[in-house]
Amino acid sequence: RRERFASLRDMDAVTKDGVRIELMINAGLREDVQALDLTGADGIGLFRTEFQFLVSATMPQRERQQRLYRDVLDAAGNRPVVFRTVDIGGDKSLPYMRAHAEQEENPAMGWRALRLALDRDGLMKAQARALLEAAAGRTLNVMFPLVAEPWEYEAARNIFVQQRKWLADRGKKLPNAIRYGVMLEVPALAEMLDILLPHLDFLSIGTNDLTQFLFAADRADPRLAERYDWLSPAVLRFLSRIIAQCDGTKVSVGVCGEMGGRPLEAMALIGMGLRRLSITPAGVGPVKAMIRSIDTRDLTPVVADLIRMGAQDARGQLTGWGEANGV
Ligand code: PEP
Ligand code: MG
Repeated sequence: RRERFASLRDMDAVTKDGVRIELMINAGLREDVQALDLTGADGIGLFRTEFQFLVSATMPQRERQQRLYRDVLDAAGNRPVVFRTVDIGGDKSLPYMRAHAEQEENPAMGWRALRLALDRDGLMKAQARALLEAAAGRTLNVMFPLVAEPWEYEAARNIFVQQRKWLADRGKKLPNAIRYGVMLEVPALAEMLDILLPHLDFLSIGTNDLTQFLFAADRADPRLAERYDWLSPAVLRFLSRIIAQCDGTKVSVGVCGEMGGRPLEAMALIGMGLRRLSITPAGVGPVKAMIRSIDTRDLTPVVADLIRMGAQDARGQLTGWGEANGV
C-alpha cells in the first residue's frame, strides 16, 4: 500500500469527473517542510507557528521567528504556505510565559490563541513584523486561530496593516500581496459569517476545535474520543451550511482539522462541495487515492442523504458506497 501511495506523489488530486482538490499539509517545524516533496502536496495549508514557541526554552525573539518563516517559504518555493498566528494556551502553555502559568478551569475555552495575542499585543506585533519581513517579495498568507467575533479578526488584521505601514514608511521591502484568513473553530462565528466574509480572503475550518465545541467534548479526553462521530448529522449539517455560504463569494473555504485526513470523512467533505483540504502528511497518499477513484456527480447525492441518518448509519452507507466504487 505504501508503494501505491508513493506512486501517487506526482499525480494530481483530481476526481474521475475532473474536479481538482487542493491537497495541502499541516506543519509546524522546519523539518516538517520536507513532507511537501515526499508527499507531493500542493502547499502548507496550516503552519502552526506556536510550535517554535513550544520547543524553545525562552520566548523566540522576532529575528528567530523571521528566520524560521523565511526558511519555510524558501523550502516551499512557489507552493503556498498559510501561517497561523500563535495558538498558545489551552493544551499548549508556555513555561516561560508567567502570565500564562496560572491554572485555568477550562483552558481550551480560556485565555488562548487570538484572545491572548490581542491582549499581549507586543507578541502579535513582533510576529506580524516577522511574517511581513520573511514574506518580502512574495505572497503572505496569514490566518488567525479561535476567532469568535468579527471584531477580533478586524483587530488582528489591523496589527498587520500597521506593521506593514511601519515597514513601508522606512522603505523596507514588503510582501507582494497579503491574504487574510480566519480559522472557523468557534460555533458562534458561524452565526456571523455573513458579517465576516466580505472582509476575508479565505476561511479554514478547524474541525478539531470546532467539533470539541459543537459537542462540548474535550478533544484531549480519551474517554470521549470514540463517543462522537465526524459523520454525525450535527457536523455534516453545520459544515455544509458554511461551505454553501462561502460558495459564490470570493472567499475560498477549506478544512485543516484532522477530519480531512481520514479518507471517509474527506469523501464526505468533498461530497458537500469542499475543494481544499490541509491534512497530516501521512494522510496525503490515502486521501489522494480516494479522490482519484471517486466521481463527485455520483457522490454528491449520497452525501446529501447522510444528514438524515445517525452517524453509525452514515458511516455504513458511505463505506458501502466507497467499496462499490473501488475506493
Ligand atoms: C483545529 O482546531 O482543527 C486545528 C486545525 O488547529 P489545532 O489542532 O492546532 O488546534
Ligand atoms: Mg484549533
